[in-house]
Amino acid sequence: MTDATQPHPALDQLREAVQAGLPTAIADLGSLVRIPSVSWDGFDPAEVRRSAEAAKALLEGTGVFDSVELATAAIDESREGQPAVLATRAARNGKPTILLYAHHDVQPPGAADDWESAPFEPTVRGDRLYGRGAADDKAGVMAHVAAIRAFTEVVGADFDLGLVAFFEGEEEFGSRSFKNFITKYRDRLAADVIVVADSDNWDEATPALTVGLRGNVTFKLTVATLEHASHSGMYGGAAPDAMLAAIRLLDTLWDADGAVAVEGLVAREAATPDYTEEKLADEAAFLDGVTPIGRGPVLSRMWNQPAITITGIDAPTVLNASNTLVPSVTVKLSARIAPGQSSAEAFRALEAHLRANAPFGAHLTIADVDRGDGFLVDTSGWAVAEAKDAMEQAWDAAALETGIGGSIPFIADLVEVFPDAQILVTGVEDPDSRAHSPNESLHLGVFRRAILTEAVLLAKLESRA
Ligand SMILES: [Zn+2]
Repeated sequence: MTDATQPHPALDQLREAVQAGLPTAIADLGSLVRIPSVSWDGFDPAEVRRSAEAAKALLEGTGVFDSVELATAAIDESREGQPAVLATRAARNGKPTILLYAHHDVQPPGAADDWESAPFEPTVRGDRLYGRGAADDKAGVMAHVAAIRAFTEVVGADFDLGLVAFFEGEEEFGSRSFKNFITKYRDRLAADVIVVADSDNWDEATPALTVGLRGNVTFKLTVATLEHASHSGMYGGAAPDAMLAAIRLLDTLWDADGAVAVEGLVAREAATPDYTEEKLADEAAFLDGVTPIGRGPVLSRMWNQPAITITGIDAPTVLNASNTLVPSVTVKLSARIAPGQSSAEAFRALEAHLRANAPFGAHLTIADVDRGDGFLVDTSGWAVAEAKDAMEQAWDAAALETGIGGSIPFIADLVEVFPDAQILVTGVEDPDSRAHSPNESLHLGVFRRAILTEAVLLAKLESRA
């Protein structure tokens, strides 16, 4: 613990309460894991409803909420979203309100053969609990419930802190009714602090607060040079084929180091924890002799700098290749945007770059643009300091501020609808959790520390003047 950290007066009591409640919390989590609440189309929505009912019962069981209900919002005019659980308790005596977010739906399990134990049969092996959703994100649901239980046991049920629990039911299917949901229930969701427990920790001994998330821009780019295919023996060497134009154009997106070379795509300046190129090569499974791309600290390349990847290409297959000049080629371009830059601005920069660099007068068509803004926490807020302090007390290790190379698009919606709320992205995962993959698991020590962190945070907010 650093000198600045004063242990919360109730820290020892909270630790004992969390420890005493852990077997029940693990058992309750196991009951949630048994419900295959896959929110994707083609899976039984009754299971998502059953999982929502189970989560609702857990919140009711805490005895601290004024109301607990299942709630939905429309995806569009024709379709309603999957059920979320919404619970509220009004703040009293000028105390802040804290919203606890997690999601109770899960990814599909994938091939059963890839699992060492059945995906919906919670199984403890060593110090980990295995099962689909055991980490992502039923552990988030359960961490909130267990923290409320421990907090209530220590301070009593007559506290002044405002509490909102929001357990979403379709996060893994793109949070399609999320924006409508938070708009529809805006008054009941309003909070000073929003805890999004759906991210990970640095490792099983080191807590992390996620403070930066990259945004994303994807689109289809068609490069066309000819009205129709022609014989490459006759015209090759004089008529430009679309593949040549596409290769030359795409090559301009990166410099010789493989770093993004698009004017207007910016990088964020921020320190990152140490992470070696060797570790990267190991974790991302580089083949022998393959070297990293980009410049600067490795984590900065993944968290703070833009990245561009061509993730697909439509062109004649090798099997069908004939001696013709290809008239048009379509690629899928996927860009990650530095936290802090708007995805709209990033798209404009990408489009301007492509149009300015199209070779041989090639015609470009851009279609199916999809984009999501990144997220950058204002780390000067009091809630960030309180959360890092709570982590340090619960883990006995200083919290790292981390980024994520991927995106959590709904966070941008939260920021838009609740601009004054301080958002804390926490989590119960660690680097071995394998969320979305076979053999997903939760480290039970991390689970206990995550529960204690949140119980301490609730106690700190309750005692805030
Ligand atoms: Zn998740």
